[in-house]
Amino acid sequence: MSQVRLRFAPSPTGYLHVGGARTALFNWLLARKQQGKFILRIEDTDVARSTQESVDAILEGMTWLGLDWDEGPFYQSDNFPLYKEHVEKLISAGKAYKCYCSAEELEAKREKALKEGGKPKYDGTCRNLPQGADDGRPYVVRFKAPQEGTTYWNDLIKGKISFENAELDDLIIQRTDGTPTYNFVVVIDDATMGVTTVIRGDDHVNNTPRQILLYEALEATVPQFAHVPMILGADKARLSKRHGATSVMAYRDMGFLPEAMVNYLVRLGWSYGDEEIFSLEDLIQKFSIENVGRSAGVFNPDKLLWLNAHYIKNGDPVRLAGLLVPFLKERGVTDTAGGPELPAVVKTLQERAKTMLELADGALFYYQQELSYDEKGVAKFFNPETPALLRGLFEKLGAVGELTTVAIEGAFKELCEEKGIKLGQVGPAVRLALSGSTASPGIYEMIEVLGLEETGKRLERAIAKLC
Ligand code: GLU
Repeated sequence: MSQVRLRFAPSPTGYLHVGGARTALFNWLLARKQQGKFILRIEDTDVARSTQESVDAILEGMTWLGLDWDEGPFYQSDNFPLYKEHVEKLISAGKAYKCYCSAEELEAKREKALKEGGKPKYDGTCRNLPQGADDGRPYVVRFKAPQEGTTYWNDLIKGKISFENAELDDLIIQRTDGTPTYNFVVVIDDATMGVTTVIRGDDHVNNTPRQILLYEALEATVPQFAHVPMILGADKARLSKRHGATSVMAYRDMGFLPEAMVNYLVRLGWSYGDEEIFSLEDLIQKFSIENVGRSAGVFNPDKLLWLNAHYIKNGDPVRLAGLLVPFLKERGVTDTAGGPELPAVVKTLQERAKTMLELADGALFYYQQELSYDEKGVAKFFNPETPALLRGLFEKLGAVGELTTVAIEGAFKELCEEKGIKLGQVGPAVRLALSGSTASPGIYEMIEVLGLEETGKRLERAIAKLC
């Protein structure tokens, strides 16, 4: 089998949307699975709406998700001469023609057709004009589409889809200002780039028959098509800002990991038995376009959060620590060098944090000297006996040698036996003194990470402030 070639072809008119990211992911996966090529093409022929900022945002989003491309990014705006050349070729072959009908004339014809109950199609006035040099009037170039027969394709997701050619218009392929139109450039690019499979959103289904007719006119091989259903919000309307963030990078900023996002996006439409957890490597093995469902996926933020918690819990602490740095900076911790090692801190928190924001919030106290103590907790767990208990604990900790969680637990046990108290009478006060909060990581782990000296300082500071 010859090599498969897939592409992602975003229009750079905004950030990378979750829907676009899923389309990119499906293309990437199929390319990797079949050891083909994944091409990135920036569809920027709409010069007025395309921006470099959007291009950068799209590339950043793809890089963050780990979707690397083998060829490109190619820019359609670099290809105008190529498109022009193909327009000329089609005209010379009698497959396209110059149309001089003015916008007003077309509008009048459209209205008349509608009034008479007909289709508002181009009526073919210029279809059979001799195609010499133009006569100085402005013109568009139209594709001479077949007027009879059926155009169909076997969609890899939706099955056979067919359109009557009689329904299709003589498509404008070049505007009055000489610029080519969207459906035309997509075909020229996919044909010249040798794209074998086009996976894209099903909002393009209506473009596909027109594009197939163009491939045929150009005598190019028609690729396979797979049209992916929309993503909907919980109310079954098309996913939009109303439902929350739709930009992939906004999810990074909200503390989501790329592997959670990839795992979530792939499951929005694709399934593999009842498995839920997939790494990119897994997906390369298991993904197939045939297992993408025909119905629209509903975006479920709770499920994404659940996956994110899973990946944080099972993540490598060193990597998570690296990813945590910018979130800590945002919270005023610009340097963790004076405090405990960040990976060790992460280990005490990753079990419970659902996002990197929660992880950062949870990590803050480790790097703060002045803690604000939870008032209710203080009222409940601090009493006149507390200073002696905290100092007693510190003494025991000083005597255990290496501060492992087992040794720390031993120190607590000894203290409790000696004073005839239960762990519950000292533990919560220690937790408050060290972290300021009643909901911190495990007390033993916290002491291990803070170390003896810092633990001592924190206990004394709490005594001075609270007792
Ligand atoms: N540029 C189009 C879009 O962003 C994609 C076209 C295609 O995939 O054929 O919707």
